[in-house]
Amino acid sequence: MKSANLGYPRIGGRREWKKALEQYWAGQLAEADLVQQLKEIRLGHLRRQLELGVEIIPVNDFTYYDHVLDTAAMFGLVPERFDYSGGPVELDVYYAMARGSQKAAACEMTKWFNTNYHYIVPEFAGRVPELTENKPLQAYREAKRELGIEGRPVILGLYTLVKLSKGYAEDECSSWVDKLLPLYVQVLQELKAEGVVWIQMDEPILNTTLYQEDLQNVKRIYEYIAQQVPGLKLMLQTYFDSVDDYEQIIHLPVAGIGLDFVHDRGENLKALIQHGFPEKKVLGAGVIDGRGIWRADLNQTYAVLNQLSQIIASERLLVQPSSSLLHVPVTAESEQALEPVLKNALAFADEKLREIVLLTQAGNGLLENPDHALASASAGRYALQQSSSRNAARVQAAAAELTEQQAQRSKPVRERSVIQKERFQLPLLPTTTIGSFPQTAEIRAARQKWRRKEWSEDQYSAFIDEQIKLWIGLQEQLGLDVLVHGEFERTDMVEFFGEKLAGFAFTSFGWVQSYGSRCVKPPIIYGDVDFVVPMTVRETVFAQSLTSKPVKGMLTGPITILNWSFVRDDVTRETVANQIALALRQEVAELEAAGVGMIQVDEPALREGLPLKREHWEAYLEWAVRAFRYATAGVRDETQIHTHMCYCDFEDIMESISGLDADVISIESSRSHGELVESFEQFTYDKGIGLGVFDIHSPRVPSVEEIGQMIDRALRVLDPAQFWINPDCGLKTRRAEETLASLRNMTQAAELARPKY
Ligand code: GLN
Ligand code: ZN
Repeated sequence: MKSANLGYPRIGGRREWKKALEQYWAGQLAEADLVQQLKEIRLGHLRRQLELGVEIIPVNDFTYYDHVLDTAAMFGLVPERFDYSGGPVELDVYYAMARGSQKAAACEMTKWFNTNYHYIVPEFAGRVPELTENKPLQAYREAKRELGIEGRPVILGLYTLVKLSKGYAEDECSSWVDKLLPLYVQVLQELKAEGVVWIQMDEPILNTTLYQEDLQNVKRIYEYIAQQVPGLKLMLQTYFDSVDDYEQIIHLPVAGIGLDFVHDRGENLKALIQHGFPEKKVLGAGVIDGRGIWRADLNQTYAVLNQLSQIIASERLLVQPSSSLLHVPVTAESEQALEPVLKNALAFADEKLREIVLLTQAGNGLLENPDHALASASAGRYALQQSSSRNAARVQAAAAELTEQQAQRSKPVRERSVIQKERFQLPLLPTTTIGSFPQTAEIRAARQKWRRKEWSEDQYSAFIDEQIKLWIGLQEQLGLDVLVHGEFERTDMVEFFGEKLAGFAFTSFGWVQSYGSRCVKPPIIYGDVDFVVPMTVRETVFAQSLTSKPVKGMLTGPITILNWSFVRDDVTRETVANQIALALRQEVAELEAAGVGMIQVDEPALREGLPLKREHWEAYLEWAVRAFRYATAGVRDETQIHTHMCYCDFEDIMESISGLDADVISIESSRSHGELVESFEQFTYDKGIGLGVFDIHSPRVPSVEEIGQMIDRALRVLDPAQFWINPDCGLKTRRAEETLASLRNMTQAAELARPKY
């Protein structure tokens, strides 16, 4: 067996990569210095993998921003608006595509499969692709020249590239395959001429739902490459799920197939046992979780490897992560502040590579006592498993005893809405906002002082209260009907709750790349999640005491907390979601008991959790929706539950959104308002709903007329009695002036609309 890696995190253990990029963008670093710094980072990562003993080290997994953008640039797929006239894409054009420039809007950015990594969407429109430079070849040469490493170049697979791109009609897909094929062949021929033996060709599109036509295209691509570049060995790498059509895919004319044995629900292994594996092919066995942060149960993993080696000769087995390690932080060694029982259970990129090397040694019979060696490498995992910090018997019991009744409001929405109308006496087309108001430098500075203990708890609360008071006053002046306290005490909507709930921990350096230089540090859910103290009651009650208008309590929902965290892997995600829901249910009860009549539970990440293949959507949505209901359904009829969601592709999960049974939902929609409104022509939504009437991502202040048109458009389909008027999302990233001006226009538009309906 051999050990292999599929991709190493780019950002560096101290986010050196991010800092270099941002300095360059700010004009503080010359291009040559950026190039030099990034080279050092890149070589450092290769050296690290070499030291760890990884035998197959990827090259060209590094990037100046995003690997999909790199691939687009390599093929000259630069949209016309960027004034590009062929040849290698200059750095400024490259970054303009990623981030926009004075003259041209940035390319769209979207989620990389079901991860929180975002890639730049290539645009095919109006372009004849050409090979501008052979990036994988440069990376291969550099690793060899500088470090003597025989790296394995990674290339984004042709079909995945085509499917992730836009700017062409569905029936042009094959013709784009035809246009790109000769260019891929040229890249590969040049690599072969250089003496490269193996290539890692990433085709995660094969892990999504595939149609016959897709399979034909894929077959055509790999047959053509095999014919044009004979002898070059392709490792066709798949990840994030099982492959959609095992039998067809393993018989493609490539030298190796990489399969994910962690995120496949056991399906890849099952298919492999059932259908076997081609005798001459190499199997890349993705047995170490490339996306989670936990030490593996190596004895169990070893058992899987042994099972595989019954079917595939050991010399044709690669031990590898389930995907690129792009999705995990660099090393757990830096986490000196964590409790040892937690720290020792963590495996970030470097620790994962160590596990891979150890498993490979075990597989090759190089360990004297493999069972013992593997068990001791997993000791941290077992210790956490047993520890009292992970296990709260009361929580486990409560989650196990949840009943269907706890997921049901006592009356249907129609009856509740009558009771709530009576209680709140809101005007037609009530106006509200989504929760947060501008987080100014002053607010961030205050939080820093409090965190560094330069400010006492009282000092900080007094400061927050002043902000709340200011903004309650402003909201009253604006004439909004339902107010919010403004979320000034929160940096981040998940971190805030994680810090107050039991079962969460926070790392010091556990950053992962989200998009470009933007990194996130997800909380870690390591133990049973439990309510400890009320989290939002003080601020909400204070805000309510300042006004006679209703103030919404503001919580982050269970699925969003789950999807934006690193989650323990010893119980199901459903179990964790239910535990979070129970804790939130208690918070909801506390708010209600304190007299808060409206409670908003945000679920912007509900859609993100959807599995890659359609056939698994229903199961996910069922438990996700139920968790939301556990959190919210315990309230009285007169308590109004709101929810909020971002991103607009809702057409296909409308049923589930309605199933949340929230009395009112607000949805981000201004960027594709028409489309979202149309979907309500097909689906009758019977609850309160606000389709965002202006885009909060832009500093632009929308006019009263514009907002009025949005309202009119929506009310051609939706009943005015159910419609709410609100912005797209929270306003925390906007400046106060923009916020006030936009909201003033929004309330005016509402006033003008009311007499019409
Ligand atoms: N209540 C949150 C806010 O206003 C919602 C944020 C979100 O949907 N991402 O900031
Ligand atoms: Zn939002």
